[in-house]
Amino acid sequence: MKKMNSGALKLELLCKGIRIDESVQPEREGRALTKIRAGLGSGLEMILPDDLYCNIPVVESFARRSPFTLVKRNGSLLICRDEKELCPVRLAQKPKWYDYKTSTGRPMPEVGSMQGTTLAFYPTEVCGFWRMEPRVNCRFCATGINVSDAALPTVDEVMEVCRAARDEGTTFCHFNAGFYAGRELDLIKPFVEAVKRKTRLLVGVQAPPQKDLSKYDELIDAGTDHFSFCYEFHNPKVFQDICPGKDTHLGQKAFFDAMEYTTSKMGKGRNSGEIIAGIEPLEDTLSAIDYITAVGAFPTICVFRPVQGTDMDKYPSPTYEDMVLVYRHMYEACRDNSIPTGIAPNIKTSLVVLPYEGRYFRRGFGVSDAVYSVKLGIMRAAFRTYYRSRLILG
Ligand code: SF4
Repeated sequence: MKKMNSGALKLELLCKGIRIDESVQPEREGRALTKIRAGLGSGLEMILPDDLYCNIPVVESFARRSPFTLVKRNGSLLICRDEKELCPVRLAQKPKWYDYKTSTGRPMPEVGSMQGTTLAFYPTEVCGFWRMEPRVNCRFCATGINVSDAALPTVDEVMEVCRAARDEGTTFCHFNAGFYAGRELDLIKPFVEAVKRKTRLLVGVQAPPQKDLSKYDELIDAGTDHFSFCYEFHNPKVFQDICPGKDTHLGQKAFFDAMEYTTSKMGKGRNSGEIIAGIEPLEDTLSAIDYITAVGAFPTICVFRPVQGTDMDKYPSPTYEDMVLVYRHMYEACRDNSIPTGIAPNIKTSLVVLPYEGRYFRRGFGVSDAVYSVKLGIMRAAFRTYYRSRLILG
């Protein structure tokens, strides 16, 4: 029998979603449906064969027409395609700390949440683009809908959640900030400093680009391991139309300058350019991948999801066939530019097909694939030894 291509399945599920049979009660058996404050997440966190995490759309209207169904038979969860059994799957489980409270009495899931195996925080107020009159938010974004009125988490509360998550195997936490007119990294810095001092988790920061590039030096000195730059679209006209706030108050070039600066300081494969595939013409997405990998960063590519309640919720989800071309190009561009991917331990993101998952889309396995694969294997082993020794010494 032909082996299942789990990466291709993940991508197809991201594009088409899944229907849930009444034999399955996901809210009882796994994590609740995610309501992620920014971006494109809204789905059911599942673990596919090969241990691939996937946040699968279920509530958007296109998911109701999906050929995939999640069913339970003889106590096992299965994905069916056109009613035929395809493969067994698992729901991502709630970590134990989701039932804990911080010492201030706050439920820990109000402070942070798991996305795949990474711990995500959005410790700042709703993005400024949603507050402007008229609002100039990115049109695919759900932050202004998902934001709660709860008080912002303190550094101490975030530390308690980091420790609890680390004790259950989490290795990486991620801080996400909206637009606050140049104050973004100042707001995030105390969190990064505390995480590095007290837990030694790996830390990622996603924030609008700073015009004062020395702010990145401060965050690097504080211990930031990774920056991601969400410039979303390579085509300037699409960027302008879909991201009016980013276009007016930042400009595409600010993203490029910041990504090039941090990559020159931190080295290849440490930072990422985040883009959305499925809205701008395919050739622009491929150009984005070429640009990002040429500067030494890695592409993080979200499949466009028309999240309910956003300005773009009537847009179609992209076709699987187009997305295969995108992720194949991602793999080949990372390989040809020798971009290290998938090096840090236990980082399995559910909302995107990760660069190291691009291998599922390669054509054949030639010499360049073999060389790249060996190189990544050596880097992975070396980094894992280093990371474990830091945890033991810490
Ligand atoms: S910058 Fe855009 S995508 Fe990010 S939170 Fe603000 S409106 Fe949403």
